[in-house]
Amino acid sequence: MKGTHQKLVIVGAGLAGLTAAAYLSREGYAVQLIEKNQKCGGMLNSFTRDGYLFDAGARSIENSGIIRPMLKDLGIDLPLLNSPVSIGVGSEVLSITDEQDISRYMDLLKDLYPEDRTEIDSLYRVIRKIVKSMHTIYGFDNPVFTKDFTHDYPYLFKQLLPWFGKFILAVMHMNRMDEPIEGFLRKITNNESLVSIIDQHFFKSTPTFFALGYFYVYLDYIYPEGGTGMLTASLADLIREQGGEILTDTTITSVDAAQKTVTDSEQRVYSYDQLVWAADLKRLYAITDTAKLDQRIIEQIEHHRSAIEASRGGDSIFSLYLGVDLPNEYFFERSNGHLFYTPSSEGLRTTHTSELDELLENFESTSKEQVLQWLDRYCELNTYEISIPSLRDPHLSPDGKTGVIISLLFEYELIRKIEEARWYDEFKTEVEDRIIKILSDSLYEGLDDHIQLRFSSTPLSIERHFGSSEGGITGWTYERAVPVISDLKKIPRSVKTPFPDILQIGQWAYSPAGIPTAILTGWYAADAIIGDKQ
Ligand SMILES: Cc1cc2nc3c(=O)[nH]c(=O)nc-3n(C[C@H](O)[C@H](O)[C@H](O)COP(=O)(O)OP(=O)(O)OC[C@H]3O[C@@H](n4cnc5c(N)ncnc54)[C@H](O)[C@@H]3O)c2cc1C
Repeated sequence: MKGTHQKLVIVGAGLAGLTAAAYLSREGYAVQLIEKNQKCGGMLNSFTRDGYLFDAGARSIENSGIIRPMLKDLGIDLPLLNSPVSIGVGSEVLSITDEQDISRYMDLLKDLYPEDRTEIDSLYRVIRKIVKSMHTIYGFDNPVFTKDFTHDYPYLFKQLLPWFGKFILAVMHMNRMDEPIEGFLRKITNNESLVSIIDQHFFKSTPTFFALGYFYVYLDYIYPEGGTGMLTASLADLIREQGGEILTDTTITSVDAAQKTVTDSEQRVYSYDQLVWAADLKRLYAITDTAKLDQRIIEQIEHHRSAIEASRGGDSIFSLYLGVDLPNEYFFERSNGHLFYTPSSEGLRTTHTSELDELLENFESTSKEQVLQWLDRYCELNTYEISIPSLRDPHLSPDGKTGVIISLLFEYELIRKIEEARWYDEFKTEVEDRIIKILSDSLYEGLDDHIQLRFSSTPLSIERHFGSSEGGITGWTYERAVPVISDLKKIPRSVKTPFPDILQIGQWAYSPAGIPTAILTGWYAADAIIGDKQ
C-alpha cells in the first residue's frame, strides 16, 4: 500500500475520473471522487426508459488497444459484444466488417459520382495508408496496461520493441496529416457533393488522419453487454470495492489553489494533497482562486488561461430517442446495429458552413420560417448516426419492440439563440418531426406509424448535464488553436497544469479527444501520482 496518507480528490466521475480513481484506489490511496450528477459515467452512460435501454453518449466503443487490456489489468469481467457498423447512402447500405468493405464503400461512391472515379481511387489510397497506421497505433495492446513486463524478455524484444518502432512512424504519419479534412478533400476533388458526403461524417475541421482513421475505428468497435454505460458502471463498482469514496449529486463550485481545498454548492469543503480535475477545463480556470499563490505561478496560470478562454468546445449533437413497436428483425434487415446513413447524395455543401454562419450572424432579423427552411435542408442533406442497442444485445428492448437512437451534428450557437428567442421546445419538436419524416420516407418506410416513445437531447442539454463548454462532446473545437497538447508522443505530459498539485485529465486535457484519451489521461495522472511517491 502506497501513499495512503495522501488525500486525493478527483472532480468529475466520467470515464477519465473513473479510470484515475480505479488505478489510485487499487494502490491504496484515499480517493474521493466527486460527481455533480446522480450517476457516474459522464458522457459514457446508458439509461432505461419504458423498458428500452438507450446510450446517452458514445453508441459503440473503440477497443483501440486500450479497453480490453485495461479491463483485464483491473480484473473487470465485462462481456464485450461485436458491434459491426454499416454505412449507407440513399437506398444502398453496406456492412463494414473488414478492410475489403472499405473498398466496396469506395465503389458505392464511384456509382454515385462516376465523374470522380480517379479521385476516389486517390482517396482510397490515402485511406489505406491511414488504416495501416491506425492498425499499428490501435491494433496492439497498449503497453501501459501490461503490468510488470520489465523482466518478460520475449515480450520486450519480440513484441514491444518491434512495435514501438512502427508506432513512432505511425505517429509521425498522424502528425503530418493534421490539416482539416475539408481542405484535404478539396485538394483531391472539386466536386463539393463528394467532399461533403465524406466530411459531413466528422466534426468541422477534424484533422485528416483522425477523420479518415474512422475507417479503422469502424472495424474496432465493441459494445459492452448491457449498454456502453456498463464500462463506466463497472469502473465505479470497482472503485467502491477497492475502498474509494464516490460522492454523487455534488457540484464543485470553487477551488482554493493556495489552501488546497475545493468547495461544493452546499458550501462543504474538501481538502486535498493532490487534485485531479476530470471535468471541463474552462470551469477549472473560472472557479479557481489563485490570489495567494506565488507571482511567477500566477503568471503561468494567466498564460494558460488566455489560451483556454480563446478556444471553445467542439461540435455537439442532437439526439432523437425512439421506442418503436417493430421487432429487431425489421431493423436488422436494413443494417447492423450501428449505422452512418445519408439519405441524399447531394451533400450538405454550404448548408453547414456559410449558410449557417449567415443565419447566426443575422439571427435577430431572421424569421422563424427562414430558420425552419434552413433546417429542412440541413435535415434532408445530413448524415445520421443511428444506433440500435438491441441489435447488439437483444435484452435491451422489450420483446417485439426496438429502441433506436438517431443523431446528427448540431450547432450549439444556433440552439442557444433559439432558446434565447424562447422557442426551444418548439424547435426541438420541429427537428424531431423532420428526422422522423426523412427516415420514414427512406430507410425505415412506415416508421412514423410505429413510434411509441420519443424524446430528444440537444447541445444545450449536453452543456447543462455534463458541464461541457458549448456542449462539446469530444473536448476542444478543431476550428481554433487547441490550448492543450495534441501530439500523441507527448500525451503523458498533457495531465500537467500550472496550478500547484492539480492535474488535468479527460477530453479537455488532450486533443483530439474521445474515449481513448479519457482513459489514457486518467491512467497517466494516476501513474504520475503513484510514481511521485515511489
Ligand atoms: C453522443 C456522444 C457520442 C460520442 N461518441 C464517441 C465515439 O464514438 N468515440 C469516442 O471516442 N468518443 C465519443 N464520445 C465522446 C466520449 O464519450 C467523451 O469524450 C468521453 O466519455 C469524455 O470523458 P471524460 O471523463 O473526459 O468527460 P465527461 O464524460 O464529460 O465527464 C466529466 C464529468 O464531470 C462532471 N462534472 C462537470 N463539472 C463538475 C463539477 N463542477 N463538479 C463535479 N462534477 C462535475 C460531469 O457531470 C461529468 O460526469 C461521444 C460523446 C457523446 C456525448
